[in-house]
Amino acid sequence: MRALVVRGLGIYGIEEVPKPKPNRDEVLVQVGVAGFCRTDLKIIRHGHRDLVLPCIPGEEVVGTVVEMGEEVNNLRIGDRVYIYPGISCKNCKNCNKGAENLCEKMRIMGFHRPGGFAEYVTSPASSVIRIPEQLDFETAVFLEPLSCCLNALELGALKEGESVGIWGGGPAGILLKRATSAMGAYPTVIEPDPKRRAFLGGLEDPKGQIFDLCIVAVGSPIAYKEAISHLAPRGRLVVFSGLLPKEETLLVDFNLIHYLEQTIVGAYGCSHRHALYALQLLINGRVEVKDLITHRLPLDHLETALDIVEHRRGIKVLIYPNIQR
Ligand SMILES: [Zn+2]
Repeated sequence: MRALVVRGLGIYGIEEVPKPKPNRDEVLVQVGVAGFCRTDLKIIRHGHRDLVLPCIPGEEVVGTVVEMGEEVNNLRIGDRVYIYPGISCKNCKNCNKGAENLCEKMRIMGFHRPGGFAEYVTSPASSVIRIPEQLDFETAVFLEPLSCCLNALELGALKEGESVGIWGGGPAGILLKRATSAMGAYPTVIEPDPKRRAFLGGLEDPKGQIFDLCIVAVGSPIAYKEAISHLAPRGRLVVFSGLLPKEETLLVDFNLIHYLEQTIVGAYGCSHRHALYALQLLINGRVEVKDLITHRLPLDHLETALDIVEHRRGIKVLIYPNIQR
């Protein structure tokens, strides 16, 4: 099968590799659509903390079950599925806290095991979620990014009626905005790029506003500084976006955190339960996603996809590994 293989920092290409065989408890999924995100850009062009090389990236995957291991009895050939990308041990301290995304033995599809930028991918049957008939692949492929947003809102302890400042109007920022609204709170997205503001319904200016919850969904130290300055007393700041290695040191005024009783909390990835919640939000239409798709590309157009994401020329880029150019 054809797959995108990353062999080292900046060393990658489309290769012919053996089609994987599912283990006893696994399914083989023919990839329908794989979402492309900034994490993939990092993995492919810049490297990533969690990456095990060589690797086939792609952690936002939906597709069709085409083969099953002999122990799989909860699925059928032909089922349309979303693959929750994490495999956790369900037994360590972090798993027991409900933070399986921080599992000590976490194995993420597209990082530690082959992902969806390929014609086929295997997954434990326990990680896949059947997609109901009314949901098409292009909507369902947003389950992963939406799940990560729901994890961030959970960790930010969002309550109905609160105000939320979201820095960054990319795919994650927009999904955070829509999920915030769906949960009965009031989002404001701060995005300097006029092209991106179009998706947000106009200009939003944080001047003079303070927020109960601030979420930074753009890898920018300036955004973090700004977000902290707009945090209400008892406000929570969610560190949602990572920073490039050179930018990792940020000065924070701990006296302000102290006097204003504020909280800073990290959010990274998502747990299986977030996918079930995300699925409900997509099924009942409380979060709409399809208008965010700006590019649909075959795997061979990888460089184009990388450029679009690197230079923020689109919102959501989708890859179709089983469609030839
Ligand atoms: Zn664990």
